[in-house]
Amino acid sequence: MLHIAVCIKQVPDSREMRIDPKTNTLIRQGVPAIVNYFDLHGLEEALRIKDRFGARVTVLTMGPPSAEQALKQCISMGADEAVLVTDRAFAGADTLATSYVVAMTIEKIAETWGPVDIVFCGKQTLDGDTGQVGPGVACRLDMEQLTYVEKVEMLDPERREIIVHRHLEDGVERVKAPLPVLITALAELNRPRRASLPGVLRAVRYEPVVWTTNDFPNLDRSKIGLRGSPTIVAKSWVPEPKPVHTVTVEGATPDEVAENLFNRLYETDLPVKLGWGA
Ligand SMILES: Cc1cc2nc3c(=O)[nH]c(=O)nc-3n(C[C@H](O)[C@H](O)[C@H](O)COP(=O)(O)OP(=O)(O)OC[C@H]3O[C@@H](n4cnc5c(N)ncnc54)[C@H](O)[C@@H]3O)c2cc1C
Repeated sequence: MLHIAVCIKQVPDSREMRIDPKTNTLIRQGVPAIVNYFDLHGLEEALRIKDRFGARVTVLTMGPPSAEQALKQCISMGADEAVLVTDRAFAGADTLATSYVVAMTIEKIAETWGPVDIVFCGKQTLDGDTGQVGPGVACRLDMEQLTYVEKVEMLDPERREIIVHRHLEDGVERVKAPLPVLITALAELNRPRRASLPGVLRAVRYEPVVWTTNDFPNLDRSKIGLRGSPTIVAKSWVPEPKPVHTVTVEGATPDEVAENLFNRLYETDLPVKLGWGA
């Protein structure tokens, strides 16, 4: 049976986020925490594979103890097991340190429940936003990486092959790769399902597996947390909002409004700004 690991991160809901005008930092207090949007698309694809071929789906996150709620949401959607890697020593991790711990966790998941055939990550997170953790994990696990995936065209568990469509800036790339692979998911990949009632009931009672630094005997402490994070934020600021000009286009009928709108756009330089012409 296939074994799929899904990497998720609990993030503040960016729709509710505000900036402190004095300090120019994010106000996280009172902001609801959600599962990173793109990670849900990775989970949905894993669950579709499970529905079609049968698979074990294990979700994992490195985060504070409160990230347990995010894992429970994944269980309610249909994941089989959930692993929370948490320890104060892991805190303050940048993407280098995070990818180290996440890769080690996937190795331990493989030792515990069997080899992992597919790893799903989101394209990026809504808060950190770097998109580096997925490729970093793939490098550390020496796994084929398929980034920016918008469609899984074919999966053959017998031949251990997968064909995906990668969304590039100037087109779509169709790639065939042998398993195991790490995929980073785009929103176009699918529409995440809602939790089922049995799933919600299971999630209420479910206790995620919790691993701390003590559970990784070969852990190199110089590679985790703040110590293992060479990234330095040199400066952060809020960009000046761009002025927005609004124009009301009127007409007696919808056709007339459309025609007036077309003429208005044609007369101004708006088409160029919208990228319609050279
Ligand atoms: C105790 C503790 C406290 C933490 N507090 C914070 C905090 O306050 N703010 C913060 O942003 N981070 C926190 N982290 C997590 C960690 O620092 C970040 O996850 C990491 O820097 C990821 O960077 P990114 O958001 O740019 O990820 P990206 O590279 O944009 O993420 C791409 C994908 O990688 C996967 N991924 C990313 N992070 C994780 C993760 N932690 N676990 C599993 N999969 C992951 C997801 O699939 C994600 O879609 C904490 C961790 C611990 C242990």
